[in-house]
Amino acid sequence: MSQLNKQISSQNRFKAVEVSKQEPKARIKNFKEVVLGYTEEQALAEASRCLTCANPQCVKGCPVRVDIPAFIKHIKQKEYHSAIQKIKEKNSLPAICGRVCPQEEQCQKQCVLAKKGDPVSIGRLERFVADLEYKKGITVQQPKAKNGKKVAVVGAGPAGLTVAADLAKLGYQVDVFEALHTEGGVLVYGIPEFRLPKQIVQAEVNYIEKLGVNLHKDALIGRLFTVDELFKKGFDAVFIGTGAGLPKFLCIPGENLNGVYSANEFLIRVNLMKSYRFPEFKTPLGIGKNVAVIGGGNVALDSARCALRLGAKTVSIIYRRSRDEMPAREEEILNAEEEGIDFKYLAAPTRFVGDDQGKVKAMECVKMELGEPDASGRHKAVAIKGSESMLDVDTVIVAIGRTPNPIIRVTTKGLETLSGGIIAIDKKTGKTRLEAVYAGGDIATGEATVISAMGSGKIAARSIHNYLSKKEESEMLLDELSANSS
Ligand code: FAD
Repeated sequence: MSQLNKQISSQNRFKAVEVSKQEPKARIKNFKEVVLGYTEEQALAEASRCLTCANPQCVKGCPVRVDIPAFIKHIKQKEYHSAIQKIKEKNSLPAICGRVCPQEEQCQKQCVLAKKGDPVSIGRLERFVADLEYKKGITVQQPKAKNGKKVAVVGAGPAGLTVAADLAKLGYQVDVFEALHTEGGVLVYGIPEFRLPKQIVQAEVNYIEKLGVNLHKDALIGRLFTVDELFKKGFDAVFIGTGAGLPKFLCIPGENLNGVYSANEFLIRVNLMKSYRFPEFKTPLGIGKNVAVIGGGNVALDSARCALRLGAKTVSIIYRRSRDEMPAREEEILNAEEEGIDFKYLAAPTRFVGDDQGKVKAMECVKMELGEPDASGRHKAVAIKGSESMLDVDTVIVAIGRTPNPIIRVTTKGLETLSGGIIAIDKKTGKTRLEAVYAGGDIATGEATVISAMGSGKIAARSIHNYLSKKEESEMLLDELSANSS
């Protein structure tokens, strides 16, 4: 019995196997992945903690309903190929989900072991088998023969890619239209390399392409073709998964000064334009000495940790509530704390001050206190009058949320949208008000998570399949009736 297994059996079933990470001092100087993933020995030890419950609650906590005990059982038996096949029955992006899904709020929260200690590290096990498959080479199950029906998917983020994979497996011809020069959506332009290497995203996109999906890059729907024109081109159904890519702003004085970025612009420059690889890529990003990031979600943390790696001396997160209310993943908050990000809780900016060149040099902040809970149950943040103070900054990154781009809404007649530009859908089917038009992911829910976008993509794919199968049945019936009557 190995040292690690002895440790598990003799010590404590309620303690998860730790995963190795790059040391904080080293990792703040590079963009390489922070979490290194389980070794085979670690994965086997962690898998052995799973009780293979008869009524597994973890599956109920997974928005795409992966058969978690079954894939972990395969790991226990060293059947790694079967383990990844089991996951891919439901989830076409396992290496991505194993890295960025908030498992602590979903499958792992439901694990029975969580009542007494650490839940099974489902995400880390998922990542282990997915990475192993990519190292050995992906195997693609033969999709069903083409059924003659065509579906257009707008947007190649997690929602669109999931719809594409699920329908391709069922025999549909699927064409994905992506506005950018690369697929992945936020996975490539938002989440930084040190949390999600782009090579991993590309490997999972390659898998979807191998399923027979046609990917069209640099194809902005609403300009190249409208949704109506996609039907005229012969598509039988359209799925809209265009995400929430427009940044929200604070609307306070000085926000237009040089040196004040939206997190979208900042992260796109770092990730997509590869400014972190300057001078190899000729896209430098001038980062100041003192950086302030406004917000408390994953986007704020990613921006702050990028700024630190790009050479900022101090990086502060300014968040109007307390640590308990921060929407970012706990694991990432801990990583950011280890790296030396300074968290200023219960504070909010009121104005930015510029120098005579129009560049930001300071920021006025006001202290906040927690008031009554609002409609969402979160405590309101209330400004304390007269508590303003100045903070020296030379770069500010505003990460307070994102809304949908209006292009599809304004170019698609009859598409119903709700406040904030979100497309109205029937949540049980993903169907919009328009015949044969479906939507899912952030465009239909507002900004959420990778796995919730994938979950809504799966619902839409199933509904599109039902709709097109029934349509075919009734068309065949009509043909039969007219043949009989003539
Ligand atoms: P997106 O990922 O936004 O993809 C939409 C795609 O549609 C994009 O590629 C876009 O270019 C394309 N598109 C837009 N308009 C058009 C058009 N008109 N024509 C053609 N293509 C178009 N979630 C987590 O679960 N864990 C995390 O750790 C996490 N961290 C995050 C960090 C950052 C910085 C950000 C911004 C988000 C993070 N999220 C995280 C949220 C998560 O990434 C999103 O909820 C998810 O990507 C939404 O998927 P989607 O497919 O709906 O949209």
